Amino acid sequence: MKKIAIIIPVYNEQENITRVVHVLDDVTQKNSSLSFQYIFVNDGSSDHTKETLEQLHAQKKYVHFINFSRNFGKEAALLAGLKHCEYDAAILMDGDLQHPPSLIPELITAWEEGYDQVVAKRDRQGEHFIKSLFAKSYYYLINRITSVEMKDGEGDFRLLSKRASEALLSLNEHQRFSKGLYEWIGFPKKTICYRNVIREDGETKWSFKQLINYGVDGILSFNTKPLRICFYLGLATFLLSLFYIGYTFFQIVSGGIDVPGYFTTISAVLLLGSIQLFSLGIIGEYIGRIYNETKKRPHYIVDNASLEGEQHD
Ligand code: UDP
Ligand code: MG
Repeated sequence: MKKIAIIIPVYNEQENITRVVHVLDDVTQKNSSLSFQYIFVNDGSSDHTKETLEQLHAQKKYVHFINFSRNFGKEAALLAGLKHCEYDAAILMDGDLQHPPSLIPELITAWEEGYDQVVAKRDRQGEHFIKSLFAKSYYYLINRITSVEMKDGEGDFRLLSKRASEALLSLNEHQRFSKGLYEWIGFPKKTICYRNVIREDGETKWSFKQLINYGVDGILSFNTKPLRICFYLGLATFLLSLFYIGYTFFQIVSGGIDVPGYFTTISAVLLLGSIQLFSLGIIGEYIGRIYNETKKRPHYIVDNASLEGEQHD
């Protein structure tokens, strides 16, 4: 019998976990030709997520947990889920029911048809229009800059075949931007659309600052184009300055020295200074990334788990 692992990262989701298991049971019990496991990755929650998971595991043997030693972030939690269990296909979904489990049969059907990645894509129904405007402009921008195409609404809710998840695990970078990594690995992919669902219990773990940082990560993780933009910006200002110096020199030669101009001096200082600082910042971001990668720290530390050690490299 083929095995499906449903991997669910959870961080302070005590109100949602039992409900998630019930809803998943409704879906999976209808399919007797596959064996299902639910792997909850508890990302260092400070509420009763851990105890709730232990109770559920005691009642239902197919419910498993991996407890992290602290909060390592959702990317690390997904990675741990993919590494720790055996499966023929893995389904990644959130633990707040914003990813409707009712789509799971459709994901599985497409996998059985031969697709390696089956992505559930959400629309932005019910979302504040400013947020969706920001998101749309961001995806427009990022797809002009980066080499892999990232699509609005395609997140972590997806099914990965064994070879797709193995390809994903072989990308061992520390600062992971999964949205881009899924596209980078390639393989036949099918997209299924669904209506956006509003979170009912608990709250989103994303602050505005985190969203901005996530946006910057997306741009910097996939290319070095910002460095090239700095280069062209520098080149353009250099040529402009040359032109301006030549022009002023010509004026001095033909008409004598003018009254020294405050405006031109200050604008040159400000313009050059800001371009230099901006470029230094971009270079610094890349150096920071190199520094983080060279440390080769593990992505997460497991406290305890109901599964044995790592199954995949
Ligand atoms: N999550 C996690 N670690 C974190 C933050 C979030 O494992 O540090 C989990 C969270 O419990 C949820 C999923 O990731 O199951 C998505 O988080 P959230 O609902 O806050 O994100 P949003 O839906 O607002 O994008
Ligand atoms: Mg959510």
